Amino acid sequence: MAKYQLKLAHLYGNLLNTYSDVGNIIALQYYAKQMDATVEPEIVSIDDRFDPDAYDIALFGGGQDYEQYVVSKDLPNKKEAFRKFIEDGKPLLAICGGYQLLGHYYIGANGQKIPGLGLLDHYTLSQDNNRFIGNITIKNEQTGEEYHGFENHNGRTFLGKGERPLGKVISGHGNNGDDGSEGAIYKEVYCSYFHGPILTRNGEIAKHLLLTALKNKYPDADFSEQEALKIKPTF
Ligand code: GLN
Repeated sequence: MAKYQLKLAHLYGNLLNTYSDVGNIIALQYYAKQMDATVEPEIVSIDDRFDPDAYDIALFGGGQDYEQYVVSKDLPNKKEAFRKFIEDGKPLLAICGGYQLLGHYYIGANGQKIPGLGLLDHYTLSQDNNRFIGNITIKNEQTGEEYHGFENHNGRTFLGKGERPLGKVISGHGNNGDDGSEGAIYKEVYCSYFHGPILTRNGEIAKHLLLTALKNKYPDADFSEQEALKIKPTF
């Protein structure tokens, strides 16, 4: 039995899970094991109650425009729960469609405006007859870490107040193809367009999210061993 137990909310996991975003959970479990912890996932979807106090970490994955539209109808019911989870400093990983839905809105490929939660200050426009597809490398300018992934999105996201990019684009398109930013960080919310899934190739992010969740849940425990851990990559 592991020493620490974390509960993960897989937000709309039955609808938003393109390009193996669910692999992020497997990666979290893999890295958690090295930290003497377990991660138990539970899908929280349409009409389910999202109790922010019942979870230590959350994943909000990507999706097609249609599924994003379906999810957008349910978001107002969970807005205050999302807000509490985020403002309490709990770690939330939001990928692509989930990232877009944390912001004000996303204009889908057919021009339809899909409202988001508006809890982060970004918005997302569409682009005509084009998608940003391919390998991408970015650099986190605060930690110096380089992250590698694969992007595939129509949306062009523009960051707002209180957010900073996850990284600066070294190669690829990133948030909008113009300003050289990729993803967003707000409190302990990590947003990205990276699929792949992101955590299998970028264990440093997984380690950060797990450590944050562990410190929140076990404030009196000593995690210096986990901090010092050089986590083994998944491949
Ligand atoms: N449907 C959104 C877009 O095309 C999100 C795609 C995704 O999650 N991969 O921008």
